[in-house]
Amino acid sequence: TMSKLPHINTSIFSVMTQMAIEYKAINLAQGFPNFPLDERLTSILVKLSNENIHQYAPMAGNISLLEKIATLTATSYRRKVNPKDEILVSAGATEGIFATIQALVHPNEEVIILDPSYDCYETPILLCNAKPIRINLKNDFTPNWELIGNTINQNTKLIIINNPHNPSGRIWNENDFIQLEKLLELYPKLLVLSDEVYEYITFEQKHISIHHRPKLWNRSISVSSFGKTFHITGWKIGYLIAPIHLMNEIKKVHQFLVFSVNSVAQVALSAYLDIVDIPSLASFYQQKRDFFRTLLADTKFNLLPCEGTYFQTVSYATISNENDIDFTKRLVKEIGVATIPISTFNADGKDNHCIRFCFAKDDETLIQAAEKLKKL
Ligand code: PMP
Ligand code: GLN
Repeated sequence: TMSKLPHINTSIFSVMTQMAIEYKAINLAQGFPNFPLDERLTSILVKLSNENIHQYAPMAGNISLLEKIATLTATSYRRKVNPKDEILVSAGATEGIFATIQALVHPNEEVIILDPSYDCYETPILLCNAKPIRINLKNDFTPNWELIGNTINQNTKLIIINNPHNPSGRIWNENDFIQLEKLLELYPKLLVLSDEVYEYITFEQKHISIHHRPKLWNRSISVSSFGKTFHITGWKIGYLIAPIHLMNEIKKVHQFLVFSVNSVAQVALSAYLDIVDIPSLASFYQQKRDFFRTLLADTKFNLLPCEGTYFQTVSYATISNENDIDFTKRLVKEIGVATIPISTFNADGKDNHCIRFCFAKDDETLIQAAEKLKKL
């Protein structure tokens, strides 16, 4: 075959959004908010448009934004990071993840991915001629430490973790971090790529970041996304935090992947970080979660735990025997609601008859969706 990536297909998020448009269905599939951003951020953006900020930003990011990110990290996690050396502003989390993997993973090395997993990890690994090793989470979507421990070896370069977890909405507890730290002690070259894009969206329990765990600091890269935190997924601005020896390598890739990212958005975010109250995001989404769960209680779906993220996963096993792809297709066409089949996050196609709803939607949209879902 001519293709370098023969089995990579169009992302399920694009496929489902396209189907939602085609069948005029309510789109609870792709994860994005349908409500507007904070008016204060809009007005910052409007004011800034006349200023002289339309040329290349510095390669690693606008200096003021880097400083605000360092302050945010200190406030949120009591961790001091050096804005000059240890932070990189990326074109969304996606580019940060791509640059990290390209910079750090050598041919034939192994990279652990915990399934079900978000879809942007595998391609950069394959393009390194490295080996993605997919390990299933337990059926309750928590890490299977026995299996992980038995799979990691001297050739494993990276383990990618995603906490809070897309698609399940589960979060890691302290024991999970203790198990991870033990593995890092056993395997000196092992690094951690910690996808924490939903870090500010957790509910009953607080988010534990790699930045809370000093044993992980020298061996980990964290990835964040302003898209999730400020309802601006279209801006595609995120950032990485890593120790200088890793960050220097990542910058070599970033500088030739994009050089630098959108200058206007960086200046706007820098100003906004002075006034925004990030902790209120969690209660905002907790209300949405509770509202949506109350609505779904009148349907036949079985609700799984949702500890973080803006996704609610449900089992439809009592409704249908169809595989989850057929089921979600029928849902779009006949019921008028688009969702995501969880099996598409699994390398082995494992299908436990679960689907994912995005509840980052205004109440009216959630009510209308629930009305339709009651017909099942
Ligand atoms: N990681 C996870 C777990 C995500 O859910 C997403 C967004 N859907 C990303 C990374 C990518 O984030 P961004 O849009 O900032 O590139
Ligand atoms: N992260 C979003 C989700 O999980 C989708 C982003 C995308 O469309 N690539 O739904």
